Amino acid sequence: MDDILITDALIVTCDGNHSIIENGVMAVNNGKITALERFNTSAAKKLTAKKIIGANGNIVMPGLINMHCHAADSLFRGLVENLPLEEWLGRVWIAEKAILTPETTYLGSVLGLAENLLSGSTTVMDMFWYPDETVRAAKDLGMRISTGGIFFDLPGIGGRSHENYVSEARNFYKSHSSDDSVIPAILPHGSYTVSPQNLSEAKSIADEYGILFCTHAAETQAEQNDIKTRYDNSVIRHLDKYKLLGETSVLAHCVHLDETEISLLAQSKTNVALNPMSNLKLGSGIAPVKAMYQAGINLTIGTDGAISGNDLDMWLAMRLTCGLAKGLNMEADALNAEQVLHMATINGAKALGRSDSLGSLEIGKNADFILVDINNSHSIPLFDPITHLVFGAGRSDVTDVFVSGKHVVENKKIGGLDIEKIHTKVRQLAPSIKASLE
Ligand SMILES: [Zn+2]
Repeated sequence: MDDILITDALIVTCDGNHSIIENGVMAVNNGKITALERFNTSAAKKLTAKKIIGANGNIVMPGLINMHCHAADSLFRGLVENLPLEEWLGRVWIAEKAILTPETTYLGSVLGLAENLLSGSTTVMDMFWYPDETVRAAKDLGMRISTGGIFFDLPGIGGRSHENYVSEARNFYKSHSSDDSVIPAILPHGSYTVSPQNLSEAKSIADEYGILFCTHAAETQAEQNDIKTRYDNSVIRHLDKYKLLGETSVLAHCVHLDETEISLLAQSKTNVALNPMSNLKLGSGIAPVKAMYQAGINLTIGTDGAISGNDLDMWLAMRLTCGLAKGLNMEADALNAEQVLHMATINGAKALGRSDSLGSLEIGKNADFILVDINNSHSIPLFDPITHLVFGAGRSDVTDVFVSGKHVVENKKIGGLDIEKIHTKVRQLAPSIKASLE
């Protein structure tokens, strides 16, 4: 007998054929999907389970994969506004230095990851100062996390030296590499904040362990100008020169690229995480998504932190990714909803090296899935579920979230921890967060 049977579902699988199963049933056993079919097959009618959940005709789909986040920055949401990236970062770092400890990082991580989870993101790639605390928050919430040691040449939080970052990155890997819910990575901040030598060392550690290398890249024109001045190169050529591109690299942003840089990303099979809301709000620009898509780059989607884009909403990020590509190219078919839904699901799994277990609903894969309410005024009638998911649905439609078959959000409520307690602690911290910039 299976553990869970979901019945009466409109299943959007996000598999290679964009398959949709109407009146579908899905069985889950030991955290894996064991059956997936239309109810009116004789095999499906015989399915039974310890727990049967009627989906009431609502959509069942894979959990979203947020490929770029700084969850704990939720502590500083709305604190630094109307500044371009470089001036904005200067202010952000002052506030972070004044406030961040392992404990406050945990509080902020819970806030940010809870927002992700309630929005339907079951896996998040996160870059932050105390990654063990991000992992603790993710585990308390019951979600999947990809993170690891960061690298930063300027005086960072806690006055760490480069040697400290190296040992922290190695220790993180050793502590978490055997945990299926943690996907370890090495995350240097960017080529304008980390020297080529230290970037190369970060990459060699990632390669030694066979894990991901993730960094910010080509986010603003000012960054491109800075790298040109310092190294007489463009950002992507600079990364290529030091052999930092490749299938296990994830570059966040990639807004300012020329044709050669797009080719370099495509040829090296480098993954890109788009962050349209953050790029718009900081006035950074609009990524050449259609050109990157046509070049064959594995495009994924992220929200960035709540201090830049002010929310961690993958639904908004999907809608903006698709809408901006159409608007920028003045072509209604520049990008379609199916392509964008894949960016937020299976393409993220590919970038994480987990396409065999995450990113789509298929037999044998992990049961990471969400229920999306379509019994409401903005969903009826519903002719095309995938178009609806990208352009009509929103995070408030996500009612239930499962990770490895565990029911971690039930009827919009988090089950893993007492979120009200975390809210109370953050409210108590708020005056000192505000005072940090006064
Ligand atoms: Zn970022």
